[in-house]
Amino acid sequence: MERVADGVWLLRGDLRKGMNIYFIEEEGGGVVQFDAGSRGMTKKTRKAAAQLGGLNRVVLGHAHADHRGTAPYMDAPVLCHPDEVAEAEREDPFWPYMDLSLLPVAPVRWIYPFLLRRWDGGAVKIDATVSEGDEVAGFRVIHFPGHAPGLIGLWRERDRVALVSDVVYLIDSARLKPLPEGEASVPHPAFGQSDEQARQSLRKLAALDPAVVGAGHGEPLCGESLRGTLERAAEKP
Ligand SMILES: [Zn+2]
Repeated sequence: MERVADGVWLLRGDLRKGMNIYFIEEEGGGVVQFDAGSRGMTKKTRKAAAQLGGLNRVVLGHAHADHRGTAPYMDAPVLCHPDEVAEAEREDPFWPYMDLSLLPVAPVRWIYPFLLRRWDGGAVKIDATVSEGDEVAGFRVIHFPGHAPGLIGLWRERDRVALVSDVVYLIDSARLKPLPEGEASVPHPAFGQSDEQARQSLRKLAALDPAVVGAGHGEPLCGESLRGTLERAAEKP
């Protein structure tokens, strides 16, 4: 596990270690898990949570297959945004708004249905919801709709740490490879509900002026020019 910030840990797994699960230490002991990666990460995720003092709850950044995969197997309450409940509780991993035909590279277009099924852990029973302004383990919930209607991030003002699930991509999902170092992009519209809203949410993240951004895939972003990187990503065609 990598330490991302004070009391914040990152577990990377699955395809090219591209799936991120974060753990945040809680004052009373134990951790909150933010995002749930893919089903294949279950064993490692359970072990990591136990090492960190036990799992108090799982908070989903959003409910796509590669973000809800371990959630049904963690033996802990699962929370998400109200606008994400219906999809989290769906059995199959294909949402009506996903349009894989928008992916430009044919083999990638063909392999995604297989990958989504492999990553997915199936329907997740949601125990409670969290909305913009709610507190989670010293972080504030922020709503970032677009890529998914109920996509949320966690924001900690005191050290400007943002854990943001798929608000920003550090990988090229249309080609299944990392973006050049220090580059970022808005999530590919093939997977999202609204590209315009996704761009608006990325601008909302940039405006927070974060010092560290932990996304759903790839290494955390940090550094002086981070705000500019996010602003440019939101406007890129
Ligand atoms: Zn996603």
